[in-house]
Parts: sequence; structure tokens; C-alpha cells
Amino acid sequence: MPCMLRLAIQKSGRLSEDSLNLIRECGISFVSSSLKLKTESTNFPLEILYLRDDDIPGYVADGVADIGIVGENVLVEEGKQSLTVEKLGFSKCRLSLAVPKTMEYNSIQDLNGKNIATSYPNLLKAYLQEQGVEADIHTISGSVEIAPSIGLAEAICDIVSSGSTLISNGLKEVERVFKSEAALIANEELSEEKREILEKLLFRIHAVQRARKKKYILLNAPNESLDEIRSLLPSIKSPTILPLAEDGWSSLHSVVNEDDFWEIIEKIKAAGAQGILVIPIEKMII
Ligand code: ATP
Ligand code: MG
Repeated sequence: MPCMLRLAIQKSGRLSEDSLNLIRECGISFVSSSLKLKTESTNFPLEILYLRDDDIPGYVADGVADIGIVGENVLVEEGKQSLTVEKLGFSKCRLSLAVPKTMEYNSIQDLNGKNIATSYPNLLKAYLQEQGVEADIHTISGSVEIAPSIGLAEAICDIVSSGSTLISNGLKEVERVFKSEAALIANEELSEEKREILEKLLFRIHAVQRARKKKYILLNAPNESLDEIRSLLPSIKSPTILPLAEDGWSSLHSVVNEDDFWEIIEKIKAAGAQGILVIPIEKMII
């Protein structure tokens, strides 16, 4: 049987869609079905296991899966951060402390002696220690945000992205404990063959990630403006310049950072650029 790399991803939840999209954007095809627990790619030596996110670090550490995609919050909570290969830039969120909005809160010291509910006891304990605060940590596995209103705890420590869940439960965010995003993790003792497959996968992931931040730009400009336009597009090293059918005009093609682009668009227009097209790039190999 040919060697396959086994990837564990979250079966259904906030990491699932972006994890699957990343694999698909790497040109790796597979049939996904919500009923299946395992699928094999048809065009890359990759097998996908669908698991609960909490189980992913343990399965990868034990070698049941070779690699996995999981939130850093879960990874660090389980003390498995040494498995990290790289951060993936999606599922960004933070672990925060929150208290009822009616509570007077001036500093972290106000949590001394309080009862705090969380699903992340290890991350919270480390943070409180660092801050010199002594509190009782009450570990619960879900619905943490209702703990204060039912009298289970005086404060909570939970995952926040926009903060709207906190507000709708009458809470306010008071401290940020940990910043998280999705990470690619790998077993530390992969065979040579599996390591090679991982390298191929990483090559593709990097091409996809690089392309996400860049745009292909095309514009037309009078020849005498070309030097100024090039100087305004700092990321352009050597743009392609083609003559237009109309005398004295050229078309300039290059790759720019999308973020930079929005800052300089007015200036390149003022310099004479016309018919500016900005096009997404699918893959970028450098
Ligand atoms: P499972 O059933 O697999 O155990 P879960 O309920 O524990 O799922 P989800 O709520 O799907 O987990 O969240 C999975 C991960 O996504 C979290 O551990 C965190 O890294 C990230 N995450 C959680 N909430 C958000 C959010 N609001 N925005 C972005 N990312 C988030
Ligand atoms: Mg979970």
C-alpha cells in the first residue's frame, strides 16, 4: 500500500470549513461526507480523519494521526505546543476574562478570591499566576458564559471573537488571557516518507497563503508617467511593460500587496494611471 499522510481536522465546528478549504486550495481533491469519519484524497497521498477538536493534539502526539489542524487555545491548554509546525492565520480568537457588566472592575487584582468558570483551566491558571492573582478555578466543559447568571461563578474565562455573546449575557470583557489562531501540528517522529509528503503539502500551503495577500495589477499609463508610477508601487521590482496600440501609452502588469495598494491608488491615478484592474492570484510560487 502506498504511504499516506494522515491529517486530523475538526469534524464540525468553527475550524472545519477553513481547514477543508485550505486543503482544497492546495489542489487536493477528496469526497467529503458529513457521515464519514475518514476520507482519502484521490490525487495526493493524504487521508483525512474527522475528529472533535479536543482530541486532535492527543491523536497527533500519539501518532494515530500524523498531522492535524487545531486552535492554539486547545493545543496550549493540553500542553502540546511543541507539536506546532506553523500558524495558519484563520480561526483567530482570544481567550478573555469577563465579569458581569454591573461589577466594578479596576484591575486584575479585583479577581482575587473570586470563583472563575472556564473550559481552559491550565491557560487560566498560568495567567493568574503570572499576574499574582489567587482565584478559584471552576472547570466546566461548555456554556461558560451563563455561569455568572446562574450563580456558578463570579467571573468567566472564555473564547471571544466579536464579543457579542458576552454582551448578550450581560458580561464585559476585562482582560485578554491568550491570543489564538489555527495551527498545523505534526507528530514528532514521522517517517522519512511521511516527512516528504508533509514537505510537499507545506510547499502548496505556502503558495496558497502567499497568493492570498497579493493581487495582480494591470494598468494603462502614458509612457512619461511610467517611472513615477513604478516609484509609487514599492513592491514592484520588475513590472512587465507592454506597448498599447495607441502611441505613447503602455500597459503595466505586476504583483502588489493588497494592503499597500489601497493606500496608493489615488496617487497612481493622479500620476496618470487609467483602466486599473486588480485580480486575485490563486497560487504564487517564488
Ligand atoms: P468540538 O465539537 O469539535 O469539540 P468545539 O465546540 O469545542 O468543537 P468550536 O466552537 O467549533 O469548538 O471551536 C473550535 C475552535 O475554533 C476553537 O477552539 C477556537 O480555536 C476557534 N474559535 C472558537 N470560537 C471562535 C470564534 N468565535 N471565531 C473564530 N474562531 C473561533
Ligand atoms: Mg471541542
